[in-house]
Amino acid sequence: MTNSVPSLTLNNGIPIPQLGFGVFLIPPDETATAVATALGAGYRLIDTAQGYRNEQGVGKAIASSDVPRDEIFITTKLVNGQHGYDQALAAFDESMKRLGIDVLDLFLIHWPLPMFDKYVETWQALEQLLADGRVRSIGVSNFQIEHLERLANETDITPAMNQIELHPEFPQEELRAYHDSHGILTESWGPLGQSKGLLDDARVVEIAEKKGCTTAQVVLRWHIQVGNVVIPKSVTPQRIQENIDVFDFELDEADLATFAELNVGRRLGPHPNEFDLV
Ligand code: NAD
Repeated sequence: MTNSVPSLTLNNGIPIPQLGFGVFLIPPDETATAVATALGAGYRLIDTAQGYRNEQGVGKAIASSDVPRDEIFITTKLVNGQHGYDQALAAFDESMKRLGIDVLDLFLIHWPLPMFDKYVETWQALEQLLADGRVRSIGVSNFQIEHLERLANETDITPAMNQIELHPEFPQEELRAYHDSHGILTESWGPLGQSKGLLDDARVVEIAEKKGCTTAQVVLRWHIQVGNVVIPKSVTPQRIQENIDVFDFELDEADLATFAELNVGRRLGPHPNEFDLV
């Protein structure tokens, strides 16, 4: 199948598919099958993390796929317990063994953990990995403006990406505007609202009926039109296919105005300033 997903360009010139496959909470023994299904459906961006404990399954699916490695964009994230310069470098090596690859496409710091105050030296380890050619691009996740500002003041390289909780009920307009003015791409996690009611909202249902598609599809289309990279997760083959079939319709001004009404500032996950799980 040809890949119909458009690409965005990271601040170092590297393209990234605008829609990818997230594997949070996919059990390790189901991950290879789910990723193989996603690759078969046309996904070329896979988003995993050390903390998901399923990098090996991702690696297995990539190794046994007939899609060439250089057509697949792989993201993984540094686990919270490995902040610190040497710890981050060592944890990266372990990820590469589990993924079974030579060069990673994007390495992210998963959470800022400001209470431990090590994200600056951790970022310097990622800068070193980039300089050494071990990773093609580096970024962060769940960083707030103050954390990004500190990296800007104390380190050399601007993150290529900030992966943050983002969905119509929590569109993160201030952080997105900061990203836009600093050349950082925004990647939405929890894009479908993590099955916590968004897809049942009557206004979303009405737009979906009008478009002749599903509520998940119109929500994913909203992310695409806003300009985010988006990484929905599913283990159901039919939904995996459905979630990538969002490039043959468009939301119009009225639909986008309805989506704007859904913004209630509802955060589903923990606040990054408080999240301290290691
Ligand atoms: P999501 O919004 O993608 O929701 C996933 C759930 O939505 C699935 O479990 C399924 O129940 C449901 N779903 C999927 N497709 C559907 C469809 N077509 N119709 C109806 N229901 C459907 O939430 P998520 O998995 O938390 O986020 C996506 C990805 O983002 C993760 O897999 C992970 O890669 C990443 N993520 C990152 C962080 C972070 O801190 N950086 C945190 C959470 C998730």
